[in-house]
Amino acid sequence: MTETKPYRVLLYYMYTPIENPEEFAAEHLKFCKELELKGRILVAAEGINGTVSGTVEQTDEYMKTMHADPRFANMVFKVDEADSHAFKKMHVRPRSELVTLRLEDDINPNELTGKHLSPKEFYEAMQDPNAVVIDARNDYEYDLGHFRGAVRPDIKAFRELPQWIRENKDQFEGKKVLTYCTGGIRCEKFSGWLVKEGFEDVGQLHGGIVTYGKDPEVQGQLWDGQCYVFDGRISVPVNQKEHVIVGKDYFTGEPCERYVNCANPECNKQILCSEENEHKYLRGCTHECRVDPRNLYVKEHGLTEEQVAERLHAIDEEYPVKQS
Ligand SMILES: [Zn+2]
Repeated sequence: MTETKPYRVLLYYMYTPIENPEEFAAEHLKFCKELELKGRILVAAEGINGTVSGTVEQTDEYMKTMHADPRFANMVFKVDEADSHAFKKMHVRPRSELVTLRLEDDINPNELTGKHLSPKEFYEAMQDPNAVVIDARNDYEYDLGHFRGAVRPDIKAFRELPQWIRENKDQFEGKKVLTYCTGGIRCEKFSGWLVKEGFEDVGQLHGGIVTYGKDPEVQGQLWDGQCYVFDGRISVPVNQKEHVIVGKDYFTGEPCERYVNCANPECNKQILCSEENEHKYLRGCTHECRVDPRNLYVKEHGLTEEQVAERLHAIDEEYPVKQS
């Protein structure tokens, strides 16, 4: 790979015992700040999960230092080129678990997990007529892009997934169950849980969607849309062969891949919407969010009461126009 951009975004995790996660987190934060990295890292007794951005030199130094630590010697870094930092600040936080699943009986992925499939193996397994592909991410991630034909669990948070599977178990019984997520960390536990739950043939996409999209042979095939990422970029491309847009504009249902947060800070809901509709609807997901006195869109654009009323009247004729 030829490096053409000055920055990089790293995505990585490792399940490995870390003694005293609080102390580790404090020291690691200091180290990251010295390197001038930005990003979010979670540390738990079970391991580390991070995504950081920095220059090529800074990220090289980070990876080198981490690999020199025997606990992280085998850690895989997914590396994306970038034009700038993808985060505004640097956080390292101690947590009770790396991904919030809150199982009554926790899983150690080093002892129990689904079969790790390479992008090529996953690509082939997906085409098995007896395979069912389960997206292990949240609904808003699925809505921007997903593997063609993948099951979309109707959940708002990862910890709801086991319950959802139990309620929909008949869909998956006797099938080859394949799971995937952004970078692979959620599937380590989720696929382990599926095995424990009695599913016999469980495979997980090793390295997640971001690795799949970079595989020179598979080239992201059978992926539709974009991959949602938890940094300033919001989304990254996956399928290098074809680009099918699956995202739909929240207001009009037209094809759309542009995520914005609802301008009401209390709501903050992520909605897909075009620039045109963002202006038209004052970036509010409901009428209440549009007229909320804290609406950030109204503030950012310095709209007067009359101008707000005009916009609201344009989308709902019954809304009265303010007379000035
Ligand atoms: Zn809203």
